[in-house]
Amino acid sequence: MAEPLFRRLALLGVGLIGSSVARIARAQGDLAAEVVANAHTEATLARVRELGLADRTELDPARAVEGADCVMLAAPVGAYTALAEAIAPHLAPGCILTDVGSTKQSVIRDVTPFLPEGVPFVPAHPLAGTEFSGPDSGFVELFRGRWCLLTPPAGTDPAAVEKISEFWRRCGSMISVLDPHHHDMVLAIVSHLPHLIAFTICGTADDLQDESRQQVLDFAASGFRDFTRIAASDPVMWRDIFLNNREALLEMLARFTEDVQTMAGAVRRGDSAYIEDRILRGRKIRRSLIERKQA
Ligand code: NAP
Repeated sequence: MAEPLFRRLALLGVGLIGSSVARIARAQGDLAAEVVANAHTEATLARVRELGLADRTELDPARAVEGADCVMLAAPVGAYTALAEAIAPHLAPGCILTDVGSTKQSVIRDVTPFLPEGVPFVPAHPLAGTEFSGPDSGFVELFRGRWCLLTPPAGTDPAAVEKISEFWRRCGSMISVLDPHHHDMVLAIVSHLPHLIAFTICGTADDLQDESRQQVLDFAASGFRDFTRIAASDPVMWRDIFLNNREALLEMLARFTEDVQTMAGAVRRGDSAYIEDRILRGRKIRRSLIERKQA
């Protein structure tokens, strides 16, 4: 077995993502010799202890990061400013700060002002998830065969970037390095907009008159049912993503709205060729996802 990459890994947030990392660290032994877990509530930390996910739990983030050579922010991105401010004076020199947040420009904006001298920040985003949250929802295979996107700001210590890349490779991920602005645009279309649509369509169905609403639930066919799966995701996490990737999300939503209007026009005019062409494009995209093993 390879030597552990880090002596002490502090996880600030032990939900789906943080607890999956903790489980991998436990199972493999090559990520970190020791894992310290922090969460927002004592109830979550009690559950982390029951599950045996960490060597130590700390409710105070400042205490959690003491002596750690890797600190990973794994809380909703709206909590990052307060967390960065609380931990900054307690980060050991040479420690690498990283994160798993779903938005990257906001994370760099919120964390960088607090960074002490000699502590590199390597923002990362594992493209892996489910609609479940909390420490019970994690599992060791979560990141296997999935991309992990790194968005280090210009001038970030290359050795720190390589160490975080190796961390995610050991979790089974493939690595790609992206500009943070580009990351946010791409994620707006592949993840944030689909979630916004899913939350909205469930709301639309719920607003129907009582009798129709009942039938929507009774007869939920795969179309609506598939939307409800992603609409079951954590409200705080998604509120924070929408508010912290506002510009890219609104830009993609504007483009999408135009395309929806064009499709509506084709339906109204009975333009079969246009409708069929759009459906075929959808099928092509689905096929290429399956070929890339990302479906
Ligand atoms: P989660 O299951 O909801 O867990 C969130 C964790 O953060 C919990 O341990 C929670 O503690 C803690 N937390 C919440 N508010 C906090 C605060 N103000 N200060 C400190 N800790 C706080 O979330 P997740 O799905 O693991 O997501 C974590 C991060 O990963 C987010 O930034 C998200 O954008 C990103 N991400 C998520 C996915 C996904 O599909 N879920 C995929 C990739 C990246 P309590 O339980 O005590 O409240």
